[in-house]
This record gives sequence, structure tokens and C-alpha cells, in this order.
Amino acid sequence: MTKDWKARTKLVHGGTRRSQYNEVSEAIFLTQGFVYDTAEDAEARFLNAGPDEFIYARYGNPTVAMFEDRIAALEGAEDGFATASGMAAVNGALVSMLRAGDHVVAARALFGSCLYILEEILPRYGVEVTFVDGTDLDAWRAAMRPDTAVCFFEAISNPTLEVIDIEGVCDIAHGVGAKVIVDNVFATPIWSRALEQGADVVVYSATKHIDGQGRALGGVILGTRDYIRKTVEPYMKHTGGSMSPFTAWIMLKGLETMDLRVRAQTDTALAVAQALEGDARLARVIYPGLPAHPQHALTQAQMGAGGTVLSLDLKGGQEAAFRFLNALHIVVISNNLGDAKSIATHPATTTHQRLSDTQKTLLGITPGLIRLSCGLEDTADLIADITCALDAT
Ligand SMILES: *Cc1c(COP(=O)(O)O)cnc(C)c1O
Repeated sequence: MTKDWKARTKLVHGGTRRSQYNEVSEAIFLTQGFVYDTAEDAEARFLNAGPDEFIYARYGNPTVAMFEDRIAALEGAEDGFATASGMAAVNGALVSMLRAGDHVVAARALFGSCLYILEEILPRYGVEVTFVDGTDLDAWRAAMRPDTAVCFFEAISNPTLEVIDIEGVCDIAHGVGAKVIVDNVFATPIWSRALEQGADVVVYSATKHIDGQGRALGGVILGTRDYIRKTVEPYMKHTGGSMSPFTAWIMLKGLETMDLRVRAQTDTALAVAQALEGDARLARVIYPGLPAHPQHALTQAQMGAGGTVLSLDLKGGQEAAFRFLNALHIVVISNNLGDAKSIATHPATTTHQRLSDTQKTLLGITPGLIRLSCGLEDTADLIADITCALDAT
């Protein structure tokens, strides 16, 4: 039945488990453990726990299971595993399926912590990683080897919003038997159809659009039942990166409103991008939903919309960027995204500070670049706030 529901119905009702009280709003099962009626029951559950039988909250919990089933239903995944943060999801998805001697190909434009795992941690354990320009399918093709086990990328890169062809990379990867893991945070679970487009695994930081109100860290790994239960679950439950029941409840409530929020935030992002396009103080307005974006056609085919984030490149460099940030009244200076509050970030000095100047140049992270995550405020108020701040530069 759930399978035939449309997205918004799945986001409100998917995965619901009611207790004996038949509560309307999902219950928080704030418990670490579960009681067995007899010693024999305990033995049987440890031997082979059924789908709705729980042992310990690090292994699973009814509130967490509701969240996993709800987001899996939306994404069209057979199963999901909820994690303590987005990075626990990225790390769990990668490390649970890799072993020494494996080769990984990854797009170069990545969230800083994803880059740290691929560049610093995996090589320590004998996994070799090749970085490519994610938008160049020939580069992916050239990097493939018989021992390539995994391809990893963010389908929309942070902060320069390049769009990677999911179907294209999946065809190349599957040709050598490699699995594809897509971190699709910037596409949002509303616009993502990554599994349908060939990805084997999709990971989200639930901290972003799933919570959407800046409260809790969380993440989720989505894929086939076999991969989630036989590869991911043993790794996650024994290494401790599981989601807490309280967080799962926040994320369940976030999912109920996510479709409405993400659509409104996307409409606003497009309106802001259109209002700023051509402004003489900007070298570039980068938004995948603008026809001027180099991968606009791919964006429309892959997602159908440009998402909730845009980037502005101010002509006056860092000085102008800082003046702009300091002159904002509604938009806050922070580093999250997908929040109800609009957020502006200066990647070169914050989220991407760790990168060398050469790496920044390679990734297009100029001193004047501002990343703007559009929230739920009135669109006209936001455009006024941003244009007034531009006047201050
Ligand atoms: C935020 C983010 C992460 C990490 O998520 P946390 O919840 O902060 O751990 C990973 N990948 C991308 C693309 C992100 O934006």
C-alpha cells in the first residue's frame, strides 16, 4: 500500500508504528533496551531478531525504525539505516563496503569532511582513492580500474553547484562492477531520484532539509535490503554511529513538512537568483535552476528543479564579501543549509578554509564567493535584504 502512495502521503504516514495507546503523533521510545519475557526469548532474539523485534538502541529502536522506513519509502529504497550525523552516514556507507586493496574514484568537489575521509582516512587502511572532475564523464571513464570498488560523489557540488550526471557515472562504474554512492544533500530528498537513476546507495545528512529547522544532527544510508542489513548494519551497530530515538523523532516530524518546505525554499532560490542575475556587482550568480547554468538541461532532466542553494561571486573579492555579509539583516551568517532561516556562508574562510589556495582555485572557491541557503522567509523581504547588502559593498 505504502508503495502506491504519492510522496507527500509517504512523508506523513510512511513507517508509522503505533503503540497499544494508538497515539496520533509518533511516540518517542526513549529507551536503550527492551525486556524479554523469558530467558529463552532473549536467546531467540539474539539468535535471529524479527523485523520489529529490538535488542538495544544502538542496533535499532521503534522510533528510529519509523524514520528509516519513512525516508526509504520516499526515496524508493528497499531499506535504510539511520545514523548519528551525515558524516556517520558517509563514513558508514564507504567503510562498511571497502577493504584494503580496493580502489575508489571520487569527484574532487566535496564537502570538507567527505574529502577528509577519502583523502586522509581511507588511504591509511590500504584503500587507494583517485579524484576526478566530477562533471567530466571521460575523466570518470579514464580513472576506472578492474579493482575499482566504489564511485563516490555529491550530485550537486558544494559550494560551486556543479551538477554531476548520475546516470552517466553509474553506467561507467557498473561497467567495471563498481558500486555508486551518491551524497545527495544539495539535491534534497524531494528532488533526488538517484536510486531510480542507477545509484546503488544514497546518503543524506538529515541535519539539512530533513530536520530543516536547525535542531539536530542526523543522517541516513539508503540502499537494497541486503546491503543495509548485511553490510551497513553490522558495521554501524558495532561501531556506534547510530541515531538516537529523540533525534529520529525530530527527523520524523521534519519529514512531515519537508515537501512543502523544500518546494517553497526552491521557489525562493530561483526568484533570488533571477533577481540578482546580471547585477553589475556580481561576477557570477550560480544556480542550477537558471537557464544560464552550464548544466541547466542536466539539472532539469535529473531533478526537475535547481534546489534551495545558490552561490554569488562578488566582484570585490573577500573585502566585498565580508561587507556584504556584515550588512545582512534577515539572512544570518552561519554554515548550515536547508534551514528555515536563510543562511549565508563565505566558504573560502570557513567551510573550505583548510584547502590550499591551489585546491580552492581548482574548485572555483574564489575570495568573493558567498553560498546562500534560502529559508522560509518572505521572498520579497529576502531579495530586499540581499540587494541592500550588495549596496553596502
Ligand atoms: C552537511 C553535509 C554532510 C555532513 O553532514 P553532518 O550532518 O553535518 O554530519 C555531508 N555531505 C554534505 C554534502 C553535506 O552538506
